[in-house]
Order: sequence, then C-alpha cells, then structure tokens
Amino acid sequence: MAQYFRYADWTTIVDPNVCAEYSVECLAEGCEAEFSIKDGEQSAETWRNAHTTRTGHRRFWQTYGHSVIVGPPPGSVVASRIAEHERAFEGQDSPVGSRQAHTAH
Ligand SMILES: [Zn+2]
Repeated sequence: MAQYFRYADWTTIVDPNVCAEYSVECLAEGCEAEFSIKDGEQSAETWRNAHTTRTGHRRFWQTYGHSVIVGPPPGSVVASRIAEHERAFEGQDSPVGSRQAHTAH
C-alpha cells in the first residue's frame, strides 16, 4: 500500500558516505581531454593547470557534484516510517560511490 506524506517538510543534506566528484573538461577545439576525480578539488586544479602548460589550452568546463539525501526534519512524525522504508530497501541499491576516477589524455 502506498504511503503519502503530503504535509511533511523535507530537508536536504549532503550524503557524508558518498564522495564529491570534481570534473574538468578541456573546451579547446579538437581536444577531448578530461579529468574526473572523487574528493580531489586540488587534483582537478593541478590537472587543469598542467594541461594548460602542456597544450596552451585555456578554456575548460568544470563541474562539481555531490550526493544528497532528502529526509524529514528532526522530530518529524514521519521519521520513523522513513527509517522503516530504508531498512526494507537496504541492499537493493547499487553503490553510488563505486565509480573509479579516471584520466584521459
Ligand atoms: Zn585541451
């Protein structure tokens, strides 16, 4: 049976169990160099600057991503029901943080 929490206020927090991901993509014509890493803002910057030094390319597209969890506020009456729901689905999710950082070029 479906359950609806129509009047619940939801809160969003950053998932502390999943690494943030930093990506840099070179925008120079004909260059497809890109770099992506978990929890490595400094490494992404280092890669970008090294790429510029090596190639003279200076335009990049940078992205930053992180996982979030939506949940009820502390003390909410729906909190316990959410917890039950999570237990029911435990083990069915594929791990989000398992992708490997990679480099190209
Ligand atoms: Zn490039």
